[in-house]
Amino acid sequence: MTYVSTRADAPAIGLGAALVAGLAPDGGLYVPASLPSFDVTDFDDCDTLPAVAARLLRPFFAGDALYGELDAICAEALDIPSPLRAIAPDTWLLELFHGPTAAFKDFAARFLAACFARLRLRDAAAPARTVLVATSGDTGAAVAAAFHRRPGFRVVILYPDGRVSPRQAHQLGAFGDNVRALRVAGSFDDCQALAKRALADEALKARVPLTSANSISLGRLLPQMAYYALAALQRRRAGGAPPAFIVPTGNLGNAFAAILARACGLPIGAVVLATNANRTLPDFFAGADYAPRASIATLANAMDVGAPSNFERLRWLYPDDADLRRAVTAEAVDDATIRATLRAHAGRGLVACPHTATALHVLDRRRAAGDHGDAVVVATAHPAKFDTIIEPLLGHPVDTPPALAALLARPAEAEPLAATYEALVARLCALDRER
Ligand SMILES: *Cc1c(COP(=O)(O)O)cnc(C)c1O
Repeated sequence: MTYVSTRADAPAIGLGAALVAGLAPDGGLYVPASLPSFDVTDFDDCDTLPAVAARLLRPFFAGDALYGELDAICAEALDIPSPLRAIAPDTWLLELFHGPTAAFKDFAARFLAACFARLRLRDAAAPARTVLVATSGDTGAAVAAAFHRRPGFRVVILYPDGRVSPRQAHQLGAFGDNVRALRVAGSFDDCQALAKRALADEALKARVPLTSANSISLGRLLPQMAYYALAALQRRRAGGAPPAFIVPTGNLGNAFAAILARACGLPIGAVVLATNANRTLPDFFAGADYAPRASIATLANAMDVGAPSNFERLRWLYPDDADLRRAVTAEAVDDATIRATLRAHAGRGLVACPHTATALHVLDRRRAAGDHGDAVVVATAHPAKFDTIIEPLLGHPVDTPPALAALLARPAEAEPLAATYEALVARLCALDRER
């Protein structure tokens, strides 16, 4: 398989090169040059997430030096439960928060790290690479956990000071060793702009070898297809119709993986994007022109995105807007509704995170409108990451999963950084000289 740019103005390259490059040289996002087509019987002997992933990703790795290591990569990186829990006779929760940092981003971050580590083994003399990530909370921790203590890599996390949850901030600063957390005096958009500028700065990259692990990385998109495939196959094996998937959405990385898995033939029904009050996608799907805008802060902070970075991939898959609007729908949920949803579901024994609550509410709306088809609500993070939001609503503490508790028990440290490019460059160069 080769990979081409969504802007069609860059040469096709192999998988390994596309993983390391992040963005294509024409500014586009890498996408596969063609799509494989699967039948459910192709997965007959695949019962686990690593097995489904290895089968699904085989054509995507074909022809690349990593092909022979795909099974090992999947076994190492995707050994995380992704249970499909029944919450009503026709409704399931796809729990994607059982990894080390308690959000779905663990799956893809670990997969990317497993690929990078193997690519690096071919070139052990190369200088240490700095993985630079801007985060609104969950990506940074997942990437830090995935690269923590990996020889040949350093992680630098940029996060907006005071705008992530206290536990998210603690997690980011709790790794130490080869991971540095920089708390930036600015917004998430500032952090992202700083990281983007650095990753496009050839002079800087000649001094400090940089790579990225953000939401547009092909190495995050590909493995995320696997948990949708496994969930869809489990429903099929139980005799069910292809379920709808309702996905809490910000940058469209996670939801696009569901859409791509469906395009490859997996038995997935409707894909419904649930957003917070950032309405860029719902407005487009309601018929308006696509209009990216500044993000606004909400309770579901990991989805505070006004310019979803994977939208280009959606347009690549469905070049015609009318086709696209038939393939996918989107609905916005405001903060007051998130609060009400968290309370109502907790009253029925389901404690969710604020992001998952957007999808639960979109499902409630569909049910109220008479839709009784099978549906899977995607649970993107564990509620314990957002205790300061959830506990006052519920009036009691939420249980903390052991991996999260272990991180929270460690000391945490983050360095302040001014939101200027000069400050970032100076810090990256100084860190690179330390070793
Ligand atoms: C990152 C994140 C999202 C949004 O995912 P995208 O791939 O950006 O759409 C939703 N929920 C949680 C908990 C997240 O961390």
